[in-house]
Amino acid sequence: MDSVLIQLRNFVNNIDQETFILFVIGSISIIFFIYIFSLNTEKKKLQKTINNNVKIFQKAFDLSDDAMLILSNKNKVIYANKAMVSLFSFEKNYQLSVLKQMPKVKIKKEWMALDTFIKDQQISVDEKVQIFPHVMLKVSRKNEIIINLHLDILMMDSEKNSSYYVITIQDLTQAKKSADMEYRHKLTNLPNQIQAIQDLPALYSKIHIDNNKVALILMSFDNFSRLRAIIGYEQSNKIIIKFSKYLSTIASDMDLLIYHTFDNHFLLAVSNVYSKEAITLLVTEIQKRLAIFYKMEDVSLHLTVSAGIALYPDSGPTRKLLDNTYKALSQAEKDGDGKIAVYLPNETKKEYDELTLHNDMKDGLEKGEFEVYYQPIVKTGTGETVGAEALIRWIHPKIGFIPPDVFIGLMEKTGFIIKLGQFVLEEVLKQLKRWELFKFKQIQVSINVSMVEIATGEFVEHVEKQIDYHQVNPELLKFEITEGVAMISEKQTEKYFHNLKKLGVGISLDDFGTGYTSFTYLKKFPADILKIDKSLVDYILTNEEDKRIVKAMIELGHNLGMEIVVEGIETKNMVELLASYGCDYMQGYYFSKPLPVFEFQKLLR
Ligand code: C2E
Ligand code: CA
Ligand code: CA
Repeated sequence: MDSVLIQLRNFVNNIDQETFILFVIGSISIIFFIYIFSLNTEKKKLQKTINNNVKIFQKAFDLSDDAMLILSNKNKVIYANKAMVSLFSFEKNYQLSVLKQMPKVKIKKEWMALDTFIKDQQISVDEKVQIFPHVMLKVSRKNEIIINLHLDILMMDSEKNSSYYVITIQDLTQAKKSADMEYRHKLTNLPNQIQAIQDLPALYSKIHIDNNKVALILMSFDNFSRLRAIIGYEQSNKIIIKFSKYLSTIASDMDLLIYHTFDNHFLLAVSNVYSKEAITLLVTEIQKRLAIFYKMEDVSLHLTVSAGIALYPDSGPTRKLLDNTYKALSQAEKDGDGKIAVYLPNETKKEYDELTLHNDMKDGLEKGEFEVYYQPIVKTGTGETVGAEALIRWIHPKIGFIPPDVFIGLMEKTGFIIKLGQFVLEEVLKQLKRWELFKFKQIQVSINVSMVEIATGEFVEHVEKQIDYHQVNPELLKFEITEGVAMISEKQTEKYFHNLKKLGVGISLDDFGTGYTSFTYLKKFPADILKIDKSLVDYILTNEEDKRIVKAMIELGHNLGMEIVVEGIETKNMVELLASYGCDYMQGYYFSKPLPVFEFQKLLR
């Protein structure tokens, strides 16, 4: 070891300074070049790996059936996968260039270039994914497809301009086609039974809004299998197609939906029906037309269709309506060719079977067959809804709609009215609370009270407890007591009037003018509201005597410090006449029929 050091020292001592410097520079350069060389190979290796990885990602993108496009925030195309390129027939050199023509999507009614659309969304950075279902996409000048559009934002670092958009386009055309097929009849391309079942609830919801009946009509050709046997499958199909086309022409003129449910069955759904007679007339018309246009065939065929009709509410609850058209049709077919039958469950027993009703009440209340409807009470002049009358409805599962006039009397006889009254009160209080919480306009709701309820002696106490429990402002409640009832026992009624008033609730004297009016009675128990009965205004436009009576009643009520509600207002002329008499509030079909709560509360928004 020593000798090596000695030799090195000797070498250094022996060479001159210049040579030494050259030697050092030479060594450093060699080391540097070696370093650079190795660095370059590293870099190349890394680059190769990156390139490989990029290719892998691109290939993976290309495997996707969904079209994908990655755009920079300056609209430069970073990558478009295979599906995207073929969807738009992009040129080869699209990459890293700004697309000349951005794909166009239909947003609501307008077409928008994808980049404008993205900007229009003003998507904040935290909402990284946006899905726009079922939008239309223009893939060529003529061709549009239906798609789901996904928009993802990639942020490479916190800088805003380092964001990228990943646009994924899911083509739904095929899926939609097969879904559509499922909802259409193969022969006529009309919507089928599956579609009908899906559409009917929307149709039923119109009942309350339009105040009309809804009718379902099921039609079928009579003796169709025999006809098939005679003229053959193909010819008979032609008849079906021709008939479907005829039905479609009438459908476009009316508020009518047509379904080809199966084979030779067609279902018609009509939402603007005023009466059973009107709908029967429509069917008769169709039957007549059928006879005419088949006479024009080479062979004169005698074709007839039979029809079964079910109407809401006459033919039962909506969920039974379709079934009931089948019952009606089978009845029509039994009656002969080209016949019409309307399903009326209670036709055979016009007198409601009281025993059945009585037995079904308790169950019905528990099963939710009873529902409180609300009829607006509006202010004269402005027409603003300031209150509502709560009116009970019973849709019996077998009988269908039963008018309150039928079951209220029975309930009074059996005492069940007490349970019903408690149900109505509770429903109304809950509803008032909900309206308060959801910031609806606060209105007064009137509840009808039967004398039987009052006679229990516990009515006032029950009301007080319930108001307290539900924490509702008592001024929002009114009780309607009928004049006749109130006169039964003067003493008792007087007591109740005063006790009720002490709770802070309002009192209306209902059906005023139907019993006989005792002025002393009115003076003794002044209610807040006098409600003039519908029967007194039914003929008011033509009957001079009715005019005088109602006018006098309004004045009398006012003189006793009460406000006046007139019910049963059905026409504009009635509104004008009663307004001229000074009536304060009005209620009637002219403004609205009683509505289920969801429909009614739309008026309060
Ligand atoms: P009411 O207290 O005289 O109620 C007014 C009735 O007139 C309601 O009949 C309402 O639907 C109807 N009506 C309102 N405006 C018009 C209109 O412009 N034209 C026509 N044609 N009718 C109109 P609804 O609901 O059938 O009730 C009948 C009766 O049944 C009520 O007469 C009431 O005495 C009783 N009632 C209803 N719900 C309840 C309740 O919850 N409890 C009690 N105790 N009785 C009730
Ligand atoms: Ca009433
Ligand atoms: Ca009344």
